[in-house]
Amino acid sequence: MSLKVLKFGGSSVGSAAALRRAAAIVRDELPFGGLVVVSALRGTTDLILEACAAASRDDLPAAQTCLSLIQERHHGVAMELGLTQTIEGVWSPLLARLDQLLTGMAMLGEATPRARDAALAIGETLSANLAARCFGGTFREVREVMRTDARFGKARPQLAALRTAAAPWREALASGALWVTQGFLGSSPEGVTTTLGRGGSDTSATLLGEALDADEVQIWTDVDGVLTADPSLVPEARPIPQMSLGEAEALSAFGAKVLHADSLAPGGRAGFRLVVANTLRLGASRTEILPVPPLRAAGAVTSVAYKEGISLLRFPATDGLEPPLEAARSLEEAGAIRFGLISSPAGTLLAVRPETHAAAEVLGTLAASGVPCESGWAVVALVGEGLRADPVAALRHLAALGQEPVGGLLTGSSTVSIAFLVPEARLGELIPRLHQRCVDGRRPSDHRMT
Ligand code: ASP
Ligand code: MG
Repeated sequence: MSLKVLKFGGSSVGSAAALRRAAAIVRDELPFGGLVVVSALRGTTDLILEACAAASRDDLPAAQTCLSLIQERHHGVAMELGLTQTIEGVWSPLLARLDQLLTGMAMLGEATPRARDAALAIGETLSANLAARCFGGTFREVREVMRTDARFGKARPQLAALRTAAAPWREALASGALWVTQGFLGSSPEGVTTTLGRGGSDTSATLLGEALDADEVQIWTDVDGVLTADPSLVPEARPIPQMSLGEAEALSAFGAKVLHADSLAPGGRAGFRLVVANTLRLGASRTEILPVPPLRAAGAVTSVAYKEGISLLRFPATDGLEPPLEAARSLEEAGAIRFGLISSPAGTLLAVRPETHAAAEVLGTLAASGVPCESGWAVVALVGEGLRADPVAALRHLAALGQEPVGGLLTGSSTVSIAFLVPEARLGELIPRLHQRCVDGRRPSDHRMT
């Protein structure tokens, strides 16, 4: 029998109305059972983190305020769904535990990553229990199966252990069970709670899909699948009905917000179909991410992605490679994302996005030590399987931009994307033009015979 895993993010389970919509989707998609993975109710993870931070400053009242907000939100939703009676007994010990954890952090004056993960886990556990009742399924504890290492806050899955632990789940789900479980959480080899990193529930769903030999994993979110461009810059952007895993990987690496990059690897290994669909617009188009690339015309671009907030560091050739490598390492350790490291006899260029306060500080220290550093850059990427067959097409598209100051080409291991640097201020004008030329320009409707 074919098995499907459905994942609902925080906004898809964030209110009674959203949960009712999700329940209808579950009825439709899983008439013969399957697995549902849910995130915490929208805003809960942020509130728990805020509570931990307050507790670690010994500001217990502020932590308690967050806790009350969490409590009120959850009770409000349960009440609207008429589930207060049934959920109370499950929720009270969880909320009491969160209270205790916060008190402990306040006493110690610190929130260690391990303690934070224990607190965060309560968000997903509250929501998965509620969703199970709302969907008419059974709550199952994901920490039974999601084995990870002990890197708290960004744990890495232990695939072999996960697969072994998931064997009883495979059996039960194959015989028609409807189970609801938590995203984002794992358990270390010693059985201590871990989390997979912010936004990690997509990854939970695809990892479980892999471990359970699922045929399909559906990520239910609040957009119409993966789009050809950011609709805030390109109103004509449209959903991409089918795309390859390689395209999805390149898009998430270069800034598309729909899927978490880590969530794509399991599909590549296991070969299931990955679907991104909109909870708010059931009839709307969705994107299928396929292990086998769909047919694309040579040179065709599927999507234009960008990421702003990039800083460039330029190292003189005379310095050699060691200083730029060292800078890249310390920036990444502080949380920066590296978009390019290009070396030529003329020098080395490092393009990074600081992302965290710590990384911005490292950047400041490097600039103070005399490394030329410019902020205000953006990375723009053209992504498409069509570029595999005709990589020069991307260069033709760039050449068509005329004399414009393109800051540099970032080539990498991806054969389905080409990326380059532009000043951030140019994005508003450039992205729509690129989209029109590379994506819209190739729309079949434009080549219609009359
Ligand atoms: N609740 C977690 C977060 O907000 C995990 C997720 O939503 O994917 O990051
Ligand atoms: Mg998410």
